[in-house]
Amino acid sequence: MKKITIAIDGFSSSGKSSMAKVLAKAIGYAYVDSGAMYRAVTLFCIENNMISGDVVDVVRLTDALPDIKINFTVNPDSGASEVYLNGRNVEREIRGMEVSGKVSLVAAIPAVRRALVKQQQAMGEDKGIVMDGRDICTVVFPDAEMKVFVTATPETRAQRRLEELRGKGDDKVTYEEVYANVCTRDHIDQTREDSPLRQAEDAMVLDNSHMTREEQNAWLLEQYRRIAAE
Ligand code: C5P
Repeated sequence: MKKITIAIDGFSSSGKSSMAKVLAKAIGYAYVDSGAMYRAVTLFCIENNMISGDVVDVVRLTDALPDIKINFTVNPDSGASEVYLNGRNVEREIRGMEVSGKVSLVAAIPAVRRALVKQQQAMGEDKGIVMDGRDICTVVFPDAEMKVFVTATPETRAQRRLEELRGKGDDKVTYEEVYANVCTRDHIDQTREDSPLRQAEDAMVLDNSHMTREEQNAWLLEQYRRIAAE
């Protein structure tokens, strides 16, 4: 099997991170959740009062970008890779509704994208990586040997996200709030000027609205085996 780069893009809460993680573990590749990096920058903005309503203070944020250090460290208990912002574990905070409500605004800023794309490309320099996000097939790794675009109906995705939030102990959030957030993020991600979410022409499409996790994982592994053996 040759060592390849696996790029997975798709809509929010399409299940791409879960399947990417399972695949990486199964084949011994590194896994990078690029969305977590945009979420960490967003948390930094919130904590430093750089967002007012829907407006981000781009000048202050651009100045601060060199001081925002994002790392992934494997949690020895769970085996999961967790995000650190300037040395602090922020895995929990970046998944909440406050960050989810602002992240697409921050991710639309070209200076932020340039800084994060550079880091992501450095992480994938030696291949043997699975990375998921919105622009991984189109911008970060346009030459990836394996490209997948994951999609599902907004209703299915909102329901999955609600269950995930409930599982993490958030029993206040409603289906309507999560559905609205999913649709708003889809819209901003698809219509932004810099690196909008779109399906790469050479990506395989996976609509998993009616698939179990096991079916998706099996499909992904099969594609990897076929491509890496070529
Ligand atoms: O994947 P996740 O839903 O955690 O990503 C959060 C947000 O980060 C997305 O809605 C999108 O605005 C942004 N993002 C991006 N490019 C990526 C990954 C995420 O713009 N490669």
